[in-house]
Amino acid sequence: MHTLSVSALGDALRRGEVSSVELTAHFLDRIKTHDRTLNSFITVTDDIALADAARADERRRDGSDNPLLGIPIAHKDIFCTRGVRTSCGSRMLDTFIAPYDATVVKRLRSGGAVMLGKTNMDEFAMGSSNQTSWYGPVRNPWDISRVPGGSSGGSAAAVAAGLAPIATGTETGGSIRQPAALTGLTGLKPTYGRVSRYGMVAFASSLDQAGILARSAEDIALSLGAIAGHDPNDSTSVNRPVEDYTKTLESDLSGLRIGVVKEQFGHGLDSEVGAIVQDAISTLERLGVSLVEISLPNSALAIPVYYVVAPAEASSNLSRYDGVRFGHRAAHPVDIEDLFKRSRSEGFGEEVKRRIMIGTYVLSAGYYDAYYLKAQQVRRLICADFAQAFEQVDLIAGPTSPFTAFPIGEKMDDPVAMYLCDMYTAGINLAGLPALSAPAGFAHDLPAGLHLIGDHFREGLLLHVAHQYQRATDWHLKRPLRFP
Ligand code: GLN
Repeated sequence: MHTLSVSALGDALRRGEVSSVELTAHFLDRIKTHDRTLNSFITVTDDIALADAARADERRRDGSDNPLLGIPIAHKDIFCTRGVRTSCGSRMLDTFIAPYDATVVKRLRSGGAVMLGKTNMDEFAMGSSNQTSWYGPVRNPWDISRVPGGSSGGSAAAVAAGLAPIATGTETGGSIRQPAALTGLTGLKPTYGRVSRYGMVAFASSLDQAGILARSAEDIALSLGAIAGHDPNDSTSVNRPVEDYTKTLESDLSGLRIGVVKEQFGHGLDSEVGAIVQDAISTLERLGVSLVEISLPNSALAIPVYYVVAPAEASSNLSRYDGVRFGHRAAHPVDIEDLFKRSRSEGFGEEVKRRIMIGTYVLSAGYYDAYYLKAQQVRRLICADFAQAFEQVDLIAGPTSPFTAFPIGEKMDDPVAMYLCDMYTAGINLAGLPALSAPAGFAHDLPAGLHLIGDHFREGLLLHVAHQYQRATDWHLKRPLRFP
């Protein structure tokens, strides 16, 4: 059952071959067996899951149906879940029980999806390898000595190992696509504003966006419609109708123009990963697209810009965790300053502290113009590069990650090396664009991802192209041997 797609599981439920309770019990069982190795969950919500599943079965008996009714799902522990710990991977929120559901969680729940639990993640979603979590590193199911990517690494590892059929994730600079690439999954980061951020713990508010990790583009198409759409509780969510993403998967690709960015195949890219991505692009060409070489002249600036803007916003968002209003409170403070200092020192890990320091520095009087303002100006140039590219092409294709999964422990004492994991992904968040990673083959025996980038609100087109690619290839069907 755990090898089936969401659409196949939906069919099995519909035909009465399995109940949601049975399906849910099966996944809970797999979590029990395998998660000691993977550490992909922070909290497993057995009781809630089985109760939700029983309710889904009841709804089905009463004649309801929709693509997610009775389908188990794992939620990244950045989404508030009513009555359930929402830790964001941090000691700061280790004992925080959310009083309400995030909009994403609420919509999936009302569609009948069954929450299995909350997945491990980099602390406050800061990281590209899932090594900064207070709850310890997550392991990659393809090689447990390696990282699954981050920050939605728990969601990625859980789906890749068959502990959940599908999972939510979030992105600020690549945290859905990069772990999808490193674990052989399909991951979609929607257009900024397409999905509500209400109830999602804030990291960098102008970049954060929720999305889905799954085994195929089709599975994402089935679930994106449930979470997308306007939410009055999030003023940045866009009031624009939601398409039926499953309706546009099937037509052929002829006539589409796909841009290949010349700057993306140079320095920093592992040559085996590069060859795999070139191959995937040739497959798209065989499927009828025409390829156009394009340039994104400012793309090399995405990393420096992102690592000014994201920490700046984070330093502001994270100021609420002071042990008084929110978060871990240090014991026996001598005065208020001691309380703030020790609560924050104890509650936050090293990477989060580094970001807060960088963020407050670039926002401080005297440095604001040189760093933050300059970064925002360059951000505008990066957006303009994409806008110009989308006058010539419908989509852009390239590598998602410059390399495959690296050993646990690597890059932890070299933050800049870690930040380079986002070299192809961060610019997309700066521009608010939708993008997807799809499995494209294996380099060094590890999964590598094809990155597809669309213009604003072209999620349907991204899923369509990825689905056609997945009909022509079987990389998305490969599973890690260790987790049969
Ligand atoms: N790796 C990036 C960072 O550490 C992106 C993280 C994310 O998308 N949440 O900021």
